[in-house]
Amino acid sequence: MRNLVIAGNWKMNGSQTFAQEMREALDNADFSERITTVVFPPFLAIHAMLGSGKFAVGAQNCYTEQSGAYTGEVSPELIADAGCQYVLVGHSERRTLLGETDQVVGKKVKLAVFAGLTPVLCVGETLDERESGNFKDVVEQQVVAGLKELNGDEVKQVVVAYEPVWAIGTGKTASADQAQEVHAHIRSVLNSAFDGAGDAISILYGGSVKSENAAELLGCADIDGGLIGGASLNSKEFITICRIAADSH
Ligand code: PEP
Repeated sequence: MRNLVIAGNWKMNGSQTFAQEMREALDNADFSERITTVVFPPFLAIHAMLGSGKFAVGAQNCYTEQSGAYTGEVSPELIADAGCQYVLVGHSERRTLLGETDQVVGKKVKLAVFAGLTPVLCVGETLDERESGNFKDVVEQQVVAGLKELNGDEVKQVVVAYEPVWAIGTGKTASADQAQEVHAHIRSVLNSAFDGAGDAISILYGGSVKSENAAELLGCADIDGGLIGGASLNSKEFITICRIAADSH
């Protein structure tokens, strides 16, 4: 059975006070044993979130080397050493705003696995790519490139997040049918590339998920959780989504 994961990506938000309040709220929540909850604070708030038995912590990015003269960068090894279990790789904001290529993403995924982290590989098409009709090819190419340095055992350590770019932070969500179609495609790509391993890999949906649409999306056969941006900044809303997820399986 696949792990059901609800992950909150705070992006470049989250003061020390915010982190403390979120931690208290999550520590007092009652869904933890039924799902895996992960928070992705900015680097400077990670420390405040570590050590809870109720949720895991991840970084929003990592570098393509494990150590050395790379001022300002943070390696997968350092992220794991700090106590994180997860790292986001290839988020669309990094691909579009910071020029992260598939090749860079593939290298980060490999190093993250090597450091013992679970990389959450983010993939998804732009609005133009959706409208041109070749969105499944685009997503397939991102999945294959992101995982191309892994073998069949290593790939089981990865979580994939399908996040259509046109749905991120826009309030527009993919319909359950649209999301399920791409999730099923990703699973079949994973199964053929890695000898059936796709059935064991959690594939999360991300893009304007909120408590009103979570149940429908999480009810789809190939949607194994959500990567939540804006709605993860409100503890009540995030916890409601976690509860919906816990009740959905
Ligand atoms: C995200 O940042 O990964 C995301 C899905 O954001 P939002 O939920 O705000 O669309």
